[in-house]
Amino acid sequence: MAGVYIHIPFCKKACHYCDFHFSTSLQNKELMMDAICREIDARKGYLENKKLSTIYFGGGTPSLLSQDELKKIIGEIKGHFEIAYDAEITLEANPDDLTKGKIKELIGAGINRLSIGVQSFFDEDLERMNRSHDAKQAIQAVENAQSGGINNISIDLIYGLPNLTLDKWKSNLEQAFKLNVSHLSAYCLTIEEKTAFNHFLKKGKITLPKEPETIEQFELLMSEAEKHNFIHYEISNFCKEGMQSRHNSSYWSGEHYLGIGPSAHSYNGVSRQFNVANNMKYIKGIEAVSPDFEMEILTEENKYNEYIMTRLRTMWGVSPDIILDSFGKETCDSFLVVAEPYIISGNLQWKQDCLVLTKSGKLLADKIASDLFIAPNP
Ligand code: SF4
Repeated sequence: MAGVYIHIPFCKKACHYCDFHFSTSLQNKELMMDAICREIDARKGYLENKKLSTIYFGGGTPSLLSQDELKKIIGEIKGHFEIAYDAEITLEANPDDLTKGKIKELIGAGINRLSIGVQSFFDEDLERMNRSHDAKQAIQAVENAQSGGINNISIDLIYGLPNLTLDKWKSNLEQAFKLNVSHLSAYCLTIEEKTAFNHFLKKGKITLPKEPETIEQFELLMSEAEKHNFIHYEISNFCKEGMQSRHNSSYWSGEHYLGIGPSAHSYNGVSRQFNVANNMKYIKGIEAVSPDFEMEILTEENKYNEYIMTRLRTMWGVSPDIILDSFGKETCDSFLVVAEPYIISGNLQWKQDCLVLTKSGKLLADKIASDLFIAPNP
């Protein structure tokens, strides 16, 4: 199985924390749609006839696309790839786009899962982030989707935000669970260099919670999710039984995927390919049949480190048997030597022949992963 990711590089507003690739000018939307369809055609061989189990519209704000635009892209994919009958077709959406009429259009275009960017249920926090919606619209969006017939819904929340107290975070989580969604992605704010938040931070216009406060927020997230029978299947992802994001899970399982659109990444087990993160350069490259991208051939070290980085964050954990089969005895032995102190300290534990993070280990996930990495050969 494999997946296709489509990057829609347009947004109404620039959120103050965001460093994804997007433009707030929709001027070239039509040209972009044509270029995306042409890229799908040009790269139809990339997945070597593997059947698609997921199609994911990310961005940017894919909910800005009309039904016709979505149908055109999905039609192009259907024309060139075999799609599983039960394929997950996800669209990232902003709450202000999800009217009842829009939900009908999305279903009509073939979308069967929504990932809704809620981020917070407090208007003052949404304003601070420069989001294009308010809290009421976020609740309404989820209700519209549910009453319209989409029940596979994920919402995104952010913690570690300026001025986010533990009480406010608790209230965000309570509201999220009350909405009866099947999936929750909760990310800790990271300040990226080229964002407004980074600028505000340098100017002293915002202050971030201290590390112990963010840890407390993460711990509350884990305990509230558990209380509501959500499975913590990846550091930032929680779901009801059987409702994991197939798209994200396929990334973490090393499945191949084709990334279409500016800034999209592709992976075929041998290399990673990165499309240019510039709308006009992308469109011109596709029009000239000379696509603008970079490619990285993966070394054995890259593959091993990626396996550690992705699997360690999941509830399935890292399998020494897979390391042995794929990377050899020496690498497997050294993995077990480095892992041992973390097992003794209670940060890693054995589960069905795999090493998984414990609750305390989840707080140290990045540090443990980087200790387990192998340095590339000079
Ligand atoms: S809507 Fe999403 S992609 Fe667009 S700026 Fe905001 S966070 Fe970034």
